[in-house]
Amino acid sequence: MNASGLSADQLKLQARARELAAGPIAKRAAEVDRTEQYPWDNVDLLKDARLIGMTIPAQYGGQGKGWLDAVLTIEALSATCAVTGRIAVETNMGAISAVMAYGSEEQKKMAADMVLAGDKPAICITEPDAGSDANGMTTRADKKGNRYVLNGRKHWITGGGVSRLHLIFAKVYDEKGAFEGIGGFLAIRDETKGLKITKREPTMGLRGIPEAVIDFEDMDVPPSALVIPPRGLKKGFADLMNAYNSQRVGAATVALGIAQGAYQLALDWSEKRQQFGRPINEFQGLQWKLADMSIKLSAAQAMVYNAARSGEGGFPDMLLAAQAKVFTSENAIQVVNDALQFFGARGYSRELPLERMARDVRMFTIGGGTAEVLRNVVAGALLKKKLPQTRDGYAVER
Ligand SMILES: Cc1cc2nc3c(=O)[nH]c(=O)nc-3n(C[C@H](O)[C@H](O)[C@H](O)COP(=O)(O)OP(=O)(O)OC[C@H]3O[C@@H](n4cnc5c(N)ncnc54)[C@H](O)[C@@H]3O)c2cc1C
Repeated sequence: MNASGLSADQLKLQARARELAAGPIAKRAAEVDRTEQYPWDNVDLLKDARLIGMTIPAQYGGQGKGWLDAVLTIEALSATCAVTGRIAVETNMGAISAVMAYGSEEQKKMAADMVLAGDKPAICITEPDAGSDANGMTTRADKKGNRYVLNGRKHWITGGGVSRLHLIFAKVYDEKGAFEGIGGFLAIRDETKGLKITKREPTMGLRGIPEAVIDFEDMDVPPSALVIPPRGLKKGFADLMNAYNSQRVGAATVALGIAQGAYQLALDWSEKRQQFGRPINEFQGLQWKLADMSIKLSAAQAMVYNAARSGEGGFPDMLLAAQAKVFTSENAIQVVNDALQFFGARGYSRELPLERMARDVRMFTIGGGTAEVLRNVVAGALLKKKLPQTRDGYAVER
């Protein structure tokens, strides 16, 4: 350990990720945004640098690293390319961590091999009529003989069209049609009949990674595809939400990284740009803005690191993860907006990265649980009671 609270190994990992981020990843970021193409070349870079699948236990081919290790990597990458930062989130947290926590040996081996080979798993929860109220989903999995048959529509699924491994949540019904709860199924695109990528969502930012509508039409899977069994009314979804706390910390980290990148650009520019015969950082109005930006970033970073550390040996704490995501996503938007202002007209130009960063960072108060719904999570945890604005009968929500 040293003054930063990071171990020597963590500092080395951070330096490796920062070098990649400042070099080849920064060079490609604008093009990835403009062409809206998934950056497979960056996936190869991450793979070569062993930054993909690092949280997967060593017995499955990973490095058994902790959430903070993943956070340090994601933070560094997101400072120059948020899309690449998100790839690091989704290959170290979320769906892959749910499979590693709750899957069978066979499922864990399959998922680990796919992720370590560069696949970014997709997690399919949101539906056109069930967003924040995910428990209201209508995608169903009917037990028929020795198979489950899935029907329904998901939308806004990150990686739709590039991901191969899909973790799909559906309401499970037994052979007599009785509801058993929400369960999670694994399916591989192109190897599973009835899994169709129907449309790509035209997004405002984060354009190098697709979000898609996915339809399940009589998608037939064996019981061995069931990775998170329904186990009664609450358990299946509660397991998912437990694993999802890692993804929330990851999403907060991408927002933090983008804002840190934008802040650094503003700080450097404030020294270079001269108006009224002096660098613009000699004006107190901008000095205080820089001070406020750095205060927000320091507080957000402490919350994100703290939430990551709370998950050692398990998953990050739900309250700390929700607090970190709300605070970081909202403040990151403000910091990027302030950074853009430092550049005057140049900040509004597509020739500089600020406008891309402003579009990219805007997502993080929405995806993975909105800031409003996460405030419900925080309030519910503080008050230890069911809030009137949440659905009856469920202890967790997103
Ligand atoms: C870029 C991106 C990537 C995404 N990736 C995925 C993915 O990979 N997989 C996936 O399953 N989903 C994904 N999502 C979907 C995301 O999780 C949902 O958008 C989110 O949960 C909100 O649902 P909604 O969009 O339907 O909004 P709604 O639920 O319709 O909410 C509309 C508004 O009402 C507010 N609101 C709703 N309920 C309450 C309440 N009880 N109290 C206070 N306010 C409330 C919300 O905060 C919001 O402001 C992604 C979304 C985006 C933008």
